[in-house]
Amino acid sequence: MSFNLNNITRENVKGLKPYSSARDEYVSDGSEMVFLDANENPFENGVNRYPDPQQRSLKAVLADQKGVSPENILLGNGSDEVLDLLFRAFCEPKEDNIISLPPTYGMYKVLSGTNAIENREVLLNERFQPNVEGILNTIDASSKLLFICSPNNPTGNSISEASITKLLGSFNGLVVIDEAYIDFSPNESWVSRLSNFPNLVVTQTLSKAYGMAGIRLGICITSEEIIAVLNKIKPPYNVNGLTQLKALERVLATNLVASEVNKILNERERLIDTLKEVSFVQTIYESDANFVLVKVDDANKRYKQLLDKGIVIRNRSTQPLCENTLRFTVGTTDENKKLVGALKEIADE
Ligand SMILES: *Cc1c(COP(=O)(O)O)cnc(C)c1O
Repeated sequence: MSFNLNNITRENVKGLKPYSSARDEYVSDGSEMVFLDANENPFENGVNRYPDPQQRSLKAVLADQKGVSPENILLGNGSDEVLDLLFRAFCEPKEDNIISLPPTYGMYKVLSGTNAIENREVLLNERFQPNVEGILNTIDASSKLLFICSPNNPTGNSISEASITKLLGSFNGLVVIDEAYIDFSPNESWVSRLSNFPNLVVTQTLSKAYGMAGIRLGICITSEEIIAVLNKIKPPYNVNGLTQLKALERVLATNLVASEVNKILNERERLIDTLKEVSFVQTIYESDANFVLVKVDDANKRYKQLLDKGIVIRNRSTQPLCENTLRFTVGTTDENKKLVGALKEIADE
């Protein structure tokens, strides 16, 4: 295998220098400085200044927690922005392609569409694991990104370490492991393996386990070299000041986050146990995430019946291999009771 970052970086990106904003040049070190460089309104209201374009305080804490250096991290307006930056840095429109593995997260396809990049789909097998041989046969010299979602949305399972290792070793593009649900999983993050694989990119988010979907904070962790390329094209102030503040507070509240994750995991097991008692539930798929995918007799019918009872879930039936499946997010004890109560009522109708 011969991964070479220079070979996969777009020509126009190679020539770019990161935009140097006013706030890049000088950051207040606590001493009295007068900032008359950025045409801001000088009257303090908490957000009158531009935010730190490199989110130094937040990255310092995240780097420490994840066992990497701040130079291994890029933050974005949700992981959706991080994924978009990967397309824009490495995929030449109308020439290059990406590989995705349905059934999986819908954004890889959406982003390939908006960036005019071919999306080559290689279905997971019936156990929702990658068809490694099929993937290797689909890859060509223009394949730049391979998206692996683990734990996978909407199926909930983790992707096997052996498959990922094989793909990392055989692909000359970037293997992007989307770990949006990693904090619900018993498996270790691939971040710990970064030094073994120069083409490994891990994305995480504060939207799920951290309970901060509303602030939009996505995390990309990879080699310093890849981060440097992404830094050239990221909008300078892509993570706003309020988000940086809220995120910092939250990532420092490690006990609180851990206790919420624990409650969600306990609730997930309870939900799975009670789903077994619902007559029209045929299969409950194993989950390493904060949702459960189930196969039912008639997903469209059950979806509508739940909606009539005021419960909104996700019908995943149109996804390949997911015929007649519904995806339930694990809620509070009370919400899950309402869900199961409604399912049992529907079964008796
Ligand atoms: C929810 C989710 C995300 C989160 O995206 P954000 O833009 O960070 O909110 C990313 N990947 C997957 C697979 C998800 O399910």
